[in-house]
This record gives sequence, structure tokens and C-alpha cells, in this order.
Amino acid sequence: MLRLSGLNLPLDHAPEALPEAICTRLRIERAALRDFTVFKRGNDARRRNAILLVYTLDIEIADEAEVLARFEGDKDVRPTPDMAYHFVAHAPQGWSGRRPVVIGAGPCGLFAGLILAQSGFRPIILDRGKVVRQRTKDTWGLWRRSELNPDSNVQFGEGGAGTFSDGKLYCRVKDPRFLGRKVLEEFVKAGAPDDILWQAHPHIGTFRLVTMVESMRRTIEELGGEYRWQTRVDDLAMERGPDGRQQLRGLHLHDGSFLEADHVVMAIGHSARPTFEMLHDRGVHLEAKPFSIGVRIEHPQSWVDKARYGQCAGHPDLGAAAYALAHHCSNERTVYSFCMCPGGRVVAATSEEGRVVTNGMSQYSRAEFNANSGLVVGIDPARDYPDGPLAGIALQRHWESKAFEAGGGTYAAPGQKVADFLAGRPSTALGEVTPSYKPGVTMTDLSLCLPAFVVDSIREALPVFGRQVANYDHPDVVMTGVETRTSSPVRITRDKSFQSLNTAGLYPAGEGAGYAGGILSAAIDGIKVAEAVARSIVAA
Ligand code: FAD
Repeated sequence: MLRLSGLNLPLDHAPEALPEAICTRLRIERAALRDFTVFKRGNDARRRNAILLVYTLDIEIADEAEVLARFEGDKDVRPTPDMAYHFVAHAPQGWSGRRPVVIGAGPCGLFAGLILAQSGFRPIILDRGKVVRQRTKDTWGLWRRSELNPDSNVQFGEGGAGTFSDGKLYCRVKDPRFLGRKVLEEFVKAGAPDDILWQAHPHIGTFRLVTMVESMRRTIEELGGEYRWQTRVDDLAMERGPDGRQQLRGLHLHDGSFLEADHVVMAIGHSARPTFEMLHDRGVHLEAKPFSIGVRIEHPQSWVDKARYGQCAGHPDLGAAAYALAHHCSNERTVYSFCMCPGGRVVAATSEEGRVVTNGMSQYSRAEFNANSGLVVGIDPARDYPDGPLAGIALQRHWESKAFEAGGGTYAAPGQKVADFLAGRPSTALGEVTPSYKPGVTMTDLSLCLPAFVVDSIREALPVFGRQVANYDHPDVVMTGVETRTSSPVRITRDKSFQSLNTAGLYPAGEGAGYAGGILSAAIDGIKVAEAVARSIVAA
């Protein structure tokens, strides 16, 4: 099979135009083309009135060797790679060793658990939160009644942080083994629409994620895996190993019980603050890492569709339009759009009492009135929080508490119109744009809950972005804050064997460990770490 990339056709091309274009590009007769499938389809909307569909195709032809020889050196014509997932180790028949433990049932822990289960290691998966249906009720408790459950919310519980999200399923990590494909295929088996396999920017939205994680739970259990909910890991038991490193021997759980464990995947997400503190107290090697801070910005989706797609706005093959923006400011900071959610809503995403955090979600249809995205500024330990591995968490907490106060102390988010933000005056009323954040928005002055350099940077970037996406900086556009959980403020550094630098048996993984950012990359990291665990168990 051949893989042909970068084949562009007009948006409204006829179906038969595709095989014709393949034959023209490969300079073959129509009869020589046996079959083809779309591997990926994206679009190129740089020219709004001449939008192109961009295809990557897998093609069966009569004389593949001849075509490959003719196109030698053409990076767009290659043999189709082997994308099948190959297990690296299996538990020996009748294996009865100590079961590996996975902490966290987010995308990283879910895929670590799945691979370990599929390899015959019957993992135990612990999560401080609840099963997804109960968790959904608790999450709505904050959104509808301003009642936060610190153990069961947008960040914690089955499915992890991405469960109530836009469910974007793409990332920029290098993936030579096509582990991302394994993730997407497992998601389809669990009930995701199969267009995620060929859309260039696939997404699944919130409700489908809920049923998918339930289905994956059943698969893991059928393979001998076991879940324990409302089971927070509060401490580690360690002993000194022969090489002088500390060696993990087990986990102290919140209910006072002890779980013996030699292999622990720590996939705790970026909001596991008490657990980061515990790791620090136990001497596990941690480092502060860069993340970003800012606000969520909302526009009517129709404005974004028009700005990006012109007359083609609303075309079914395009869907709700997205954007990706970045600006390098005169103060040497970078402002960028983060986690854009077309046709979605802004959600309350705190996991701690007395704090306000924004994030975004959507349904599969992306049919809600507003588009939203983070508008954030990169920060780093050297410049902004030099006081040790946990200083980024202290900084997050500080600004999230300020946002809670500025919002009125009820979990309402502080909000401000762009015109007022640029002019440095508080907002007192809404204009044309109605924010979607629940439980509500208090119009105020966002500079009360952001570092001054973040305010300056966003003020510089807004008009620049307005020149790239029409109406981006419209005076009535609303921003809410604060957006602080963009990625982990901490790295639990690991070595080549995927174990903690100084704690054998501890396998830091996913977003919380600083090795992923987003659902797909966290899931891929979960696979890699599970493979390392499987290899280690088999080698022992
Ligand atoms: P998490 O998903 O955070 O999972 C960690 C789990 O560990 C949690 O369930 C938690 O309860 C558990 N845990 C923590 N500490 C303990 C402990 N001590 N004991 C037991 N259990 C513990 N990414 C995208 O790619 N696309 C999107 O569209 C997208 N939208 C998002 C929208 C929202 C509202 C949010 C909050 C995030 C979004 N993200 C999105 C980010 C994405 O969700 C994360 O990158 C991803 O979930 C990280 O996966 P993870 O498994 O590493 O950690």
C-alpha cells in the first residue's frame, strides 16, 4: 500500500474528483488504481474564499514498486507504514506476581491500565474521585449550585481532567510507533465516532467521553484489572535499595489501609497538589516547570466562522471554526491561544475551595453559541517562581484565590469586556457578548487577579490578534479568569527506564508528571510507561 500526502482539492469537489486527482498526481491510468482510503483529511483555509480540503490517502495500485521508484525522494509518496500496535511484553502463563498499581484514572492512567491489562498483568487502578456518572453529578453541583466537592469535580474522578472537555484528540508529540493510532482505535472500540480516525483535528466532546470511559473500564475489568474509587494515595512506603536509591514498597491509602506495590504508575494529573506536596516531603525528585497563566476569552461562534471561513462559514465539511494565535510581546513574554473550544462553553474548573479557575468544554456537535479559548502568557520558574519545586503551585493558588475574591466569593468568575480591559477600567455591564461560565460572572477588573506583566502582555496582544481574526478584540468581547491550570507546574523527573530519578519502582506519567499536555499525549505517555513496567516485571 502507498501513502500519498498533501493532495489538495476544492472544498466542494465531486466524489469522483478524488480518484482522478490521485491518478493525475501519481501519473497512472485510472485502471491501475485498485482502491484507496482516506487516512487523514484537514483543510487549508488560508485563502478564505478558496478553501481546500487536504488529503492523506492510503492507496492500492497495480504496480506499487514502479510508482515508488518513480517518486523516490518525494516525501509525499511513501509506502504506508505499519501502524499496528505491538505489545512489548506479556505476563507469563499463570503469572501470580505482585500486581502493578496505577494511580489516577485519567487518560494516562486509563491507557497505562489498559495496556497492562491487555498484557496480562491485572493492574489495580486507584483514583481519589468517583465513577464517572456520580462524578458528573458532583461537577454539576459546582456549575449549578456553587457547591464544590474537593474529591470529585472537573479535575478528579473517572476519566480525569479531560472528561468534561472539548475532547480534542490531537497533539504535536513525535509518535514514530503510531501509539496515538492505538489510542484512537481503542476510543472507537469504546464508542467514539470513527471519524476521529481520519479527521486531522478530531474531537469527541463531553457526553461521549463519559460513556467511553465506562466502556473502557469494563474492558479492563474483564481482563482482570481492578478499580478502587474514592481511594486517595496519601503516602509512600520506601526502603533504601542496594544502589542507594530509595525503593518503593507500597502505598498508604486515605482510608488508613496499606497496599503493597513494587511498580506504581503515578498518573495524577496537574491538579494533584497535596500529592505533589507529599512526594516533595518524601524526597522524591521534583522540579518546577514552565506553564501559562491568563484568562478565557469568548466570542460568538458566528464571528469566528465568518473571520476564518468567509462565505463558506457553516459548511458541513468545515464545522465550527477554530483559531490558533501567538504573539511575542515587547516585554519578551509570549501570549497565545490555548485549548480553543469552538461552539462550547467556559467551565468552572477549580478543585480547591475558595478558588476560581476557568477552562473550556463542548459537545460533539460544537453547536453552542460561543467560541472560547484560553488567552494565556507563558511563565517559567527562573523568572517568575524561583523558590523551589512547589513555588508554581503557590503562585497558582495565589491568583486563583484573588479570582475567587474578585468574583464575589461565590465561585462566580470575575469578567471584563475587552474595551474596559484595554482602557484599565472595571466593567459594570455586559454588551453584545454573553459569557457562558456557570455558576455566573461578576463584571469587574481582571487586573485584580492577574500579575501586572500578564495584563500588559494581553493588552499588547489583543489588537494584534484582532488583525488576524476579525472582531477578536471587539469592545464587547468578554474575558473571564483565571486560567491557571494550563499544564503542570511540576515535573516528577524520570530516567530512561521511566522511573523517578531517585525512587525505584515509581513511574511518573502523564500531564501531572510533566510528560504530556492534553488527552492524546497523556494517553500515549500512559502506554509508554505501562510498557516500561511490563518489561521490568518480565525481566525480574
Ligand atoms: P488527569 O486527567 O488529570 O487524571 C489524573 C487523575 O488522578 C484524576 O482522576 C485524579 O482524581 C487522580 N488523582 C490525583 N491524585 C490522586 C491521588 N493522590 N490518589 C488517587 N488518585 C489521584 N486536553 C485535550 O487534549 N483536549 C481537550 O479538549 C481538553 N479540554 C480540557 C478541558 C477541561 C475542562 C480540562 C480540565 C482539561 C482539558 N484538557 C484537554 C486537558 C486534559 O484533560 C489533560 O491534559 C489530561 O486529562 C491529562 O491526563 P492525565 O491522565 O495525565 O491526568
